[in-house]
Amino acid sequence: MTDYPSLYLAIDGEQVAVGDRRTFAVVNPASGDTLAELPLADAADLDRALDAAGRGFRTWRYTPAAERARVLHGAAALIRERADSLARIATMEQGKPLAEARMECMAVAGWFDFAAGECQRLYGRELVRPVGQRSVVRWEPVGPVAAFAPWNFPLANPGRKLGAAVAAGCSIILKSAEETPASALAIVQALYDAGLPTDVAQAVFGVPDEVSRHLLASPVIRKLSFTGSTVVGKHLAKLAADNMIRTTMELGGHGPVLVFGDADVDKAVATAAAGKTRNAGQVCVSPTRFIVEESVFERFRDGMAERLGATRVGDGLDKDTQMGPMANARRPDAIGKFVADAKDKGARVETGGERIGNQGFFFQPTVLSEVPLDAEVMHEEPFGPLALVNPYAGEDAMIAEANRLNYGLAAYAWTSDAPRQRRLADALEAGMVGINTHMIAGPDAPFQGVQWSGHGSEDGPEGVKACMVVKAVHEG
Ligand code: NAD
Repeated sequence: MTDYPSLYLAIDGEQVAVGDRRTFAVVNPASGDTLAELPLADAADLDRALDAAGRGFRTWRYTPAAERARVLHGAAALIRERADSLARIATMEQGKPLAEARMECMAVAGWFDFAAGECQRLYGRELVRPVGQRSVVRWEPVGPVAAFAPWNFPLANPGRKLGAAVAAGCSIILKSAEETPASALAIVQALYDAGLPTDVAQAVFGVPDEVSRHLLASPVIRKLSFTGSTVVGKHLAKLAADNMIRTTMELGGHGPVLVFGDADVDKAVATAAAGKTRNAGQVCVSPTRFIVEESVFERFRDGMAERLGATRVGDGLDKDTQMGPMANARRPDAIGKFVADAKDKGARVETGGERIGNQGFFFQPTVLSEVPLDAEVMHEEPFGPLALVNPYAGEDAMIAEANRLNYGLAAYAWTSDAPRQRRLADALEAGMVGINTHMIAGPDAPFQGVQWSGHGSEDGPEGVKACMVVKAVHEG
C-alpha cells in the first residue's frame, strides 16, 4: 500500500529503523495483507529512551505553562490540518470507517487544546500562617510516564496520554499497540512539529511484556498509564507496585443499558445500535448488556435486530461503510466463540452470529436474546458487535443486573421519569453514567472506571492532575 508510511521507533530525536531488530508485521484488517514491518525495541533501545526521558523531564518540568500550551495548541492545529491523511492511516491499520477515524483526530485536537488551557490553571494554594511564616501547597509533575495504549483508538488512546503528560510537565515514553503504530507515530510527530523537544515524548514498540517489565523496573519511570484488558491491568499493577509507581488504569467494561417502559424506545434503539456498531463494538464503553423492562422488551429487541441487521459492513476506506472489520484476527474468533457458547446454553440469535467471508476480520453485527446468566459473554467483555438483550421485571431487578459484575466503567439508562433518573444516577456502580444519552466522553469530562474497570481518570482537569503530585512547603 503506497500511502501507508514506513515505521520506526522515535527515540531521543532519532527515527530508529528495523536494522537487525526483530519485526512485527502490521496488517490491514480489511484484507489481511501486510502493510509494513515494524521494528521492535531491544533492551538497549529502551535504555536510550529512558535516558532521554529522564533528561527531557529535567527541562520540561520547568518549562513555563504558556510554552507547554503553545506546543499543545500548535499540535492540535496540525492534527486538524492533517486529519484526512491521519484518518486514512488509522483506517488502514485498524479498520474503522474513515469518518470515525476523522472524529478521533478531532477528539485528540480537542483534548490537546483543553490540556493546553488546563496546564495554565494548575494553581497551588497558600495556607494562613503567623507573620513571617509561609506554607504553600504546590502541584508538581510526577515525573517520566510510561504509557501503554491499545489498538482500538489508535489516535485517541495515545493522544489523551501524551496530552496529559505534556501539559503536566512530564516526559513520556509511549508504547502504543504494535498493531496500530503509524497513528501513534503521527500524533507524536505533530507534537515535535509544534516544537516539543524530542526527549520529552518518545514512541517505542516491542514485545509488550518485555517493554513493560523493562520500563517499570527502571527508577526513571514514576507513573504508569495503561489502557487495555483487566487481566493485563492487574499484571501491570503488580509490576508497578515493586517500584511504587503511581498508576492510571483504564480497563474493560460490560456496558449495561437499562431501558424502562416509559423510555423513548425508538431513540434508545437508534442510539444503542449506533453505539454497538461504532468501531465494530471494540470500545470499552460500548453498550453491551441490554436490560429491558418486560413491557418494551419485544419492541426493543426487534428494533435492535432490524438496525444491526441492516448495517453496511465493509472496508473502512469505502465511504458507504457503516461498520468496518474487527481490528485483528483474534477478535472474530473470540466473538464466534461467545456466540457458540451462548447458543449452546439457550440464547436465541435474532440477527447475525457469523463471520463474514474469509478475507479480513469481518463479523456480522449480532443480537442475542434471552441469554442465560451462565453464558460466558454475560461475564466477560465481548469487545465486538454483540448485543445481549434480556427482559426484566422492574427497577430493582434491573439495577441488580446492571451492578452484577465487577466491571464499572460506563452504564446507561433510558427513562422519562425524572425521580427515577436521579435514583439511577445514585445506584449505578460505574465511573460514567449516561441517562437518555450515550455521549459520556469529552475533553472536559473525566473518563474512568471503578472496581475491575480500573482507577484514576483521563481527560478533564482530572486527567492532567493524574500526572502530578502535591508538595507542601513550610517556611518557619
Ligand atoms: P491484551 O489484553 O493482551 O492486550 C490489550 C492491550 O494491552 C494491547 O494494546 C497490548 O499491546 C497491551 N498489552 C498486553 N500485554 C501487555 C503487557 N504485558 N505490557 C504492556 N502492554 C500490554 O489482548 P487483546 O487481544 O489486544 O485485547 C483483548 C481484550 O482487551 C479485549 O477483548 C478487551 O476486553 C480488552 N481491551 C480493552 C481496551 C480498552 O479500551 N479498555 C482496548 C483494547 C483491548
